[in-house]
Amino acid sequence: MPSLPAPLAARAERWFGRPATVVEITELSPGLVRVGFAGPPWRGRSWVRGQEVEFRVGDREFRHYTPADVDPDSGRFDVVFVRHGDAPGTAWLAGLGVGSEVGVMGPGGGLRREPDRRELFLGDATALGLFAALMPTSRDASGAVEVPAEDVAAAAALVPSLAVVVTGAAPGSALDSWLGVHADDLVRENEPPPEQACLAGHVGTIDLLRRRIRTEFGLPRRAVATKAHWSEGRRGL
Ligand SMILES: Cc1cc2nc3c(=O)[nH]c(=O)nc-3n(C[C@H](O)[C@H](O)[C@H](O)COP(=O)(O)OP(=O)(O)OC[C@H]3O[C@@H](n4cnc5c(N)ncnc54)[C@H](O)[C@@H]3O)c2cc1C
Repeated sequence: MPSLPAPLAARAERWFGRPATVVEITELSPGLVRVGFAGPPWRGRSWVRGQEVEFRVGDREFRHYTPADVDPDSGRFDVVFVRHGDAPGTAWLAGLGVGSEVGVMGPGGGLRREPDRRELFLGDATALGLFAALMPTSRDASGAVEVPAEDVAAAAALVPSLAVVVTGAAPGSALDSWLGVHADDLVRENEPPPEQACLAGHVGTIDLLRRRIRTEFGLPRRAVATKAHWSEGRRGL
């Protein structure tokens, strides 16, 4: 639901949204900001790691984001936002301050995957929150994220088990190169190859890497979970 006529958008937010207050904003790097939201309706809510929420970011616009961390006891959840240019989501983010009141829809969606597996994660900066949420449930997490050079240190702190590579000329090219160099390392002696993979972020990159890792590691389709976050020329997914 990226866009609705303004009266319908307001009604959808009223009917399906729950209020939350911005309780903390942390500038992680030039391109990444972590925002903590909290509010009584979020206390005690059941939440599955990897589920997303939706914010109304303009009169007509809604955008999806993924909590990186959730504390049902206090009713707080944190989202890692990517600033990527002049767009409704980024403009809305710039207008948030501690104390801002927002309406949040969800949580919903999520990924079909098994916990406690040897798991490969590949994605871009928009996947940092998702991977941070999921990795604690993997038995052995490996993989890489690609982010702009200015965001490398912040990304590495969010997903310490993963490699962080600098985004290349085209989305996905840095991840593709990383896989070319490291695929053999992922099949360690006396250990099975990754049993499961999670690909998230840019749509074209997911398509490219899904084919490659299925062939490389012999993974069946159901063992590769994917989450499309954005695509060139598409506004909100
Ligand atoms: C389920 C789900 C979970 C998501 N979780 C997160 C999350 O936790 N954190 C996060 O930051 N994003 C997340 N995203 C991605 C985010 O919703 C999109 O990036 C969204 O397009 C941002 O809205 P916008 O208004 O800023 O840009 P839009 O108005 O949607 O897009 C404007 C233009 O910018 C391009 N664009 C959009 N995103 C990017 C990008 N990241 N880099 C470069 N170009 C881009 C579009 O292709 C379009 O051409 C998630 C998306 C989905 C579907």
